[in-house]
Amino acid sequence: MIPVVFALAVTLIPPAAPSPRPGQWGWPLSPPPAVIRTFDPPAAPWGAGHRGVDLAARPGQPVYAAGAGHVSFAGRIAGYGVVAITHGRVRTTYLPVEPAVEAGRPVAVGTRIGTVQDRPGHCGLRHCLHWGLRRDLHYLDPLSLLRSQVRLLPLWPPAGPPARPR
Ligand SMILES: [Zn+2]
Repeated sequence: MIPVVFALAVTLIPPAAPSPRPGQWGWPLSPPPAVIRTFDPPAAPWGAGHRGVDLAARPGQPVYAAGAGHVSFAGRIAGYGVVAITHGRVRTTYLPVEPAVEAGRPVAVGTRIGTVQDRPGHCGLRHCLHWGLRRDLHYLDPLSLLRSQVRLLPLWPPAGPPARPR
């Protein structure tokens, strides 16, 4: 009897992944990770800055698509494994990632796209996942994807454009 109950419990527990619903966004890591370094957009396209956020991660940890779309790139750039997903006009990027998907493949939010590559450097000696977001040619804060669905207060009055962070 005990083995049967155990088997049922194992079967009923879903794999750890962001808990997405269609059309929503989720963290690329599970459970929600610590943010090691925040978004710091460059003043000019060629300027210094940080074009995404760095999330605490460990090598081999699964990486999930933050939203539904299709894989537009999965490969290596300068030794770093990179996965890029196009979601309409916006694109999310993940690195360093050992890709488990190929370019052209459709993904849902929470689809496992690879694992964190054992390649420190971007975060010093720590391992991290760099998560980027672009709309056309503009870099945006990927955390804004998550904030947009956890807003608890109504928006009033309409706010002006946000102050440009320095
Ligand atoms: Zn980074």
